[in-house]
Amino acid sequence: MVSNLEVPLLTQFSKSASTQTTSPSWLDADLRTVWHPYTQMKTAPPPIPVERGEGVYLITPDGRRILDGISSWWVNIHGHGHPRLNAALARQAEKVAQVIFAGFTHEPAATLAQELVSRTTPELTRVFYSDDGSTAVEVALKMAYQGWRNRGETERTLFVAFDGAYHGDTFGTMATGAVEVFHHEFQNLFFEVRHAHGPYCGTHAEAPPHRRCSPSLEEILDQEGERVAAVIVEPMVQGAGGMIIQPPEFLRRIRELTHHHGIPLIADEVFTGFGRTGRFFACEHGPVAPDLLCLSKGLTAGYLPLSATLATDEIYQAFLSEDRGRTFFHGHSFTANALSCAVALESLAIFDSEQVMTRIGRLEALFQERLAGLAKLPCVQGARTLGGLAALDVGGGDGGYLDGRGPWLAEQFLARDILLRPLGNVLYFLPPYAVTDQEAHHVFDAMEEVLSQLS
Ligand SMILES: *Cc1c(COP(=O)(O)O)cnc(C)c1O
Repeated sequence: MVSNLEVPLLTQFSKSASTQTTSPSWLDADLRTVWHPYTQMKTAPPPIPVERGEGVYLITPDGRRILDGISSWWVNIHGHGHPRLNAALARQAEKVAQVIFAGFTHEPAATLAQELVSRTTPELTRVFYSDDGSTAVEVALKMAYQGWRNRGETERTLFVAFDGAYHGDTFGTMATGAVEVFHHEFQNLFFEVRHAHGPYCGTHAEAPPHRRCSPSLEEILDQEGERVAAVIVEPMVQGAGGMIIQPPEFLRRIRELTHHHGIPLIADEVFTGFGRTGRFFACEHGPVAPDLLCLSKGLTAGYLPLSATLATDEIYQAFLSEDRGRTFFHGHSFTANALSCAVALESLAIFDSEQVMTRIGRLEALFQERLAGLAKLPCVQGARTLGGLAALDVGGGDGGYLDGRGPWLAEQFLARDILLRPLGNVLYFLPPYAVTDQEAHHVFDAMEEVLSQLS
């Protein structure tokens, strides 16, 4: 979903042999008829055709193997073409793929809900399914808002989010977002949201220089707490906002303040959930217990679209009534798709039987060691790592999403058969956890080679 908006111009794109791929016949159909996401269709180079996936590799029709260093937009966690996930998908397909989820249910959805509830804090007791990260967040926003209204508190119409936040591309999630380049165009259509400053507020080395300083959450809640429906945060890491890692105290403070004011806290773990930060859920770093928890991306190991919004019993109870008007009138055609739920269950089983969390811990150590080396390069600023994520800022450019270094870097890595897609000047490595040490070292070697060319 998110990447730099500026893709390399065709004329800038290197014509080196290693980036050339012979085109399958269907690529023409793509060029003539497909509109790709986050892509300037006028200037983008033709998309790279992928025929198969195998472990951390994406394989083109002519056999080129590209190392997927960003888990195919942050979703894939156990590798592509995983035999156990494939088998789980095939088994469920033999039974049923999709069932209306109002008035009906099925085993994969029920079992998965129970599994999710058992793996999160005891406060979260209900699971509402939808199909992607944005809808998981929309659901949380709507639950918080209507929850208040159902209890007769109609004054609470304000949401609080953080500077640099990214919560999705639908209107509600855009309103809470604060990535200028993505959201500015639509701002006249947004509902009311206050943005509080993050932990660094423009002074810390890890904050991009253009980051502005809004009032603190404390100030906002002191002034307008009575009007606030919910506070929403990406716990521990702001992903699309530039892979900004927060100290756990920041999250704890947010929870303290929201508790103090009696305001629900929405944890958007669409990106951070399922091990990415080194804990199964990023909230465990606090540890904090949110009132609403949004999950998607890694939920099906990056196989199929599915998301879940977990809610506390208190929020759930606000919707129980003899009055049918208090129902949560929200649902999507593909709510709790049975294929998706079956694959999600198998992914959780893989976490247990293959000690995936231990593997992530070892990856983090490797990342730390290699980033320490990269940090010595003159162009590298603010190298940082957490769990299965390594990120650094490439200095010397103008910073931000439209920094010209992003497309240049992406091109350099692609020429080495490595998929990395910097967010502006933020270069990050976020592989499927199944990446081997050797493959990870190979990517860091390439980073060293490429970044050494910059002053
Ligand atoms: C990706 C992302 C979303 C949106 O998820 P989609 O599946 O792309 O709609 C929401 N919140 C966070 C933190 C994300 O990283």
